[in-house]
Amino acid sequence: LSQETVFTLDEESLLANFCSQIAAAIERERFNEHRHQVELAETSEKLYKTLLNAVSHEFRTPLSVISGAIETLTDAALSLQEPSRHELLQEIQRAASRLHRLVENLLDMSRLDSGRIHPKLEWCEIGDVFSALYRRFEPDLSSHPLKFSTMDQVPLIFIDPGLLEQALAHIIQNAIRYTPAESGIEISAQLADSQLHLTVLDHGAGIPEDALPHLFEKFFRVAGTGSGGTGLGLSICKGMIESMHGTITATNAPGGGLCVTIRMPVETMTPILKAPPDELDQ
Ligand code: ADP
Repeated sequence: LSQETVFTLDEESLLANFCSQIAAAIERERFNEHRHQVELAETSEKLYKTLLNAVSHEFRTPLSVISGAIETLTDAALSLQEPSRHELLQEIQRAASRLHRLVENLLDMSRLDSGRIHPKLEWCEIGDVFSALYRRFEPDLSSHPLKFSTMDQVPLIFIDPGLLEQALAHIIQNAIRYTPAESGIEISAQLADSQLHLTVLDHGAGIPEDALPHLFEKFFRVAGTGSGGTGLGLSICKGMIESMHGTITATNAPGGGLCVTIRMPVETMTPILKAPPDELDQ
């Protein structure tokens, strides 16, 4: 437009109309952005409060167990016999590992939230991950028999073995904690729908159907679950598995018990019976 352009009345009203529509759109965008910010602030305030509640509650119990046990152990007047001393030391150990688990969960959660978990992907055999899990849970075998099974020919998978072990260990730990003693837990690796399915099936009560969609949310715990958890573990597992391009879901098994399935897509696997790509290149 040159400086001399003179608008007709119609053009002027069209332009004015245009401008006011743009102004309204900008105003609407600003309002939406503001509302989004308010919602974000509310959500993070709510998460912060939940976290603080869960953490302070979870810290308090084991800490008071530890200080109570130490007080009794060091009370000269009590002159405790060996069996009682041993029991108190075991209590301290259990409380300390509960604290340890809590701190690990919090650190993992914050690493996942800030995108600081970078899986170190490599070609692995799932059998090696299963062996490491077996060793880790050996002390629990007397209370919960663990049965690991894989199909005959399992492809190598491109994963971070430490991260996968950690995620599976948490699911197995849950299966041990939330099911009756003596009930078995089956951990298996199977190929289905061109994916590798890693499942952990227990024989406990499972969880209510309406709770299933929330199972992997942060801080979610099934109503009535006893103390000794924060509801963070499964959301952390989900973050870990997704960082390796896998998915994780849970269902109640037809025969009872919870079945948690990790699926690794075909791109993360070698074709069966073939060497990993690096070796094929050589
Ligand atoms: P936490 O165990 O610390 O509470 P999780 O995220 O690991 O947190 O688990 C969330 C909730 O899911 C648990 O509190 C429990 O109510 C339920 N849950 C998890 N695993 C099982 C299971 N194998 N059987 C029954 N309930 C389970």
